[in-house]
Amino acid sequence: MSQNRVAVVTGSNQGIGFATVKALCSDFEGSVYLTSRNEERGLAAVEELKKIGLQPKYHQLDINDESSVLRLRDYLKDTYGGLDVLVNNAAILLPFKEGMSDDIFAEHACTVMQTNYFDTQRACKILFPILKPHARVVNLSSMLGHLTHIPGEDSVAVNLRAKLASPDLTYEELDSLMHNFVDAAQKGEHTKYGWPATGYYTTYIVSKIGVSALTRIQHRDFERDSREDIVINHVHPGYVSTQMSDYKGVLTPEKGAVAPSWLALLPPNVQEPKGAFVWCDKTIVDWVKGPMPPLD
Ligand code: NDP
Repeated sequence: MSQNRVAVVTGSNQGIGFATVKALCSDFEGSVYLTSRNEERGLAAVEELKKIGLQPKYHQLDINDESSVLRLRDYLKDTYGGLDVLVNNAAILLPFKEGMSDDIFAEHACTVMQTNYFDTQRACKILFPILKPHARVVNLSSMLGHLTHIPGEDSVAVNLRAKLASPDLTYEELDSLMHNFVDAAQKGEHTKYGWPATGYYTTYIVSKIGVSALTRIQHRDFERDSREDIVINHVHPGYVSTQMSDYKGVLTPEKGAVAPSWLALLPPNVQEPKGAFVWCDKTIVDWVKGPMPPLD
């Protein structure tokens, strides 16, 4: 039976994704796929794990490329009859640094939102139909994806938070909010709609708030799904030393992979966490109200 079980981690040639593959190779009963947009980097990462006695498998996956996701889906369906664990880890951060122009901010808003929110969502739409009963899905959010990163008590910010937090929020409404940010950012008018002011992490913050709000909608869908016991959660892995954090994070990638791999391995018929925002220490944090635990 375990021969047929399969786990996939997106963007896993380095960083937290790589460490998650490492953890799953030890603890998941079945095949574990390291995936990467660049095949050479992915195969080199597989070799690294083989050197320490682990046996990951490999498949190319670029979430920006729909045909790449479709190829992976068809391969998983043909080889394993579906998918048991999906860790949506792939993401980018294009920081807005001092001296950069408004045009660069506008460009980043498009690029970051496309990968982190729209293309993650598209990968889910393509791969969710092949999830098997008892499947586990983990969406990598961030502490920066916590709703309280939309600041302010003026009515526009309060309304924006209320929309994103609504238990009735739909995919269409969320897509349109994410488009609103990108469109407003083109004109430098995003704060007018309640979005955070231009800063180092702004585009990343909004994209990760999108990922978290998306997870809550996906959870609602899984609760109604005819397939038994499919569980999804979103996670803050901690501040981790990786390329994304310019290696400034305080946790090792292995520590950063602790909560994501724990969520990927939640036992059958677990009662919680389900649809929850999970902190790196495995505690559940209220995504709407907080409070957020102190930084690691
Ligand atoms: P890294 O930048 O180290 O790794 C990101 C991975 O995603 C890389 O393998 C990268 O590939 C891959 N990737 C990027 N774009 C695509 C794409 N289009 N298709 C497939 N893969 C892609 O980041 P981290 O390991 O730090 O981050 C992993 C996750 O954790 C992200 O979702 C991040 O937002 C989140 N996170 C990280 C924190 C941290 O402190 N590091 C804190 C909170 C959240 P390539 O090597 O080719 O660039």
